[in-house]
Amino acid sequence: MANTNLEDVPSENLMTELLRRFKCSSKPDKRLILVGPPGSGKGTQSPIIKDEYCLCHLATGDMLRAAVAAKTPLGTKAKEAMDKGELVSDDLVVGIIDEAMKKPSCQKGFILDGFPRTVVQAQKLDEMLEKQGAKIDKVLNFAIDDAILEERITGRWIHPSSGRTYHTKFAPSKVPGVDDVTGEPLIQRKDDTAAVLKSRLDAFHRQTEPVIDYYSKKGIVANLHAEKPPKEVTSQVEKVLSQ
Ligand code: ADP
Ligand code: AMP
Repeated sequence: MANTNLEDVPSENLMTELLRRFKCSSKPDKRLILVGPPGSGKGTQSPIIKDEYCLCHLATGDMLRAAVAAKTPLGTKAKEAMDKGELVSDDLVVGIIDEAMKKPSCQKGFILDGFPRTVVQAQKLDEMLEKQGAKIDKVLNFAIDDAILEERITGRWIHPSSGRTYHTKFAPSKVPGVDDVTGEPLIQRKDDTAAVLKSRLDAFHRQTEPVIDYYSKKGIVANLHAEKPPKEVTSQVEKVLSQ
């Protein structure tokens, strides 16, 4: 894109982008963390928050899956743990996030989705931000009972290139197995099975719940009722972020 000649960009696209930047210029900076077990709705709410506040959406799971698909050295290192539903090493994900936060799209802040997942990751994130004179503004805790998650996870369908998420029962695509926007095929994640979900939930309770305590002590955690329908969760998020 660096070599795009603006004269070749259709006026309609230019105008849309200009309007977006104009709208974004009046938005406050925000640095947010979304924390919750797999299937709690973080990926569903992220694009809505991203558009409203002009933030970038950084999902370590999406980045790692892209690295696995591209068979990069990082992907090769991460694959085994991901297939088993275990966490990959702290150093690996901290490196990815450090790099990703430098993107121009993160200028007004970011939504971290699926990171930090251990207290060590949270401490490293704080150190990174401190160097830039920045800090996390809010941690949205997608609180939900484990019992609800199996149905959500096993019914999930994804459009890999955009990250759009569907559900056979709760958010079906217009044509089964096909993305509404591009018409491209949807996929199911290899780790979205009842068996792997057990390990992922175990990792969440043992390693990630302490992260919620870590930020609670700083007084920046907002608890959401993530078992409610998607629109109600969006309303809760809007309420928290407008405060
Ligand atoms: P996460 O990113 O936290 O793993 P997702 O946002 O991908 O979770 O949601 C998991 C699945 O549940 C998806 O198929 C999604 O369409 C569906 N889903 C998301 N939020 C809700 C909700 N509030 N009620 C019912 N289903 C939901
Ligand atoms: P997710 O897409 O968030 O469900 O993540 C999928 C998988 O990627 C997890 O089960 C982990 O193996 C790995 N992963 C994603 N984010 C992290 C993280 N912050 N720390 C360690 N492992 C991660």
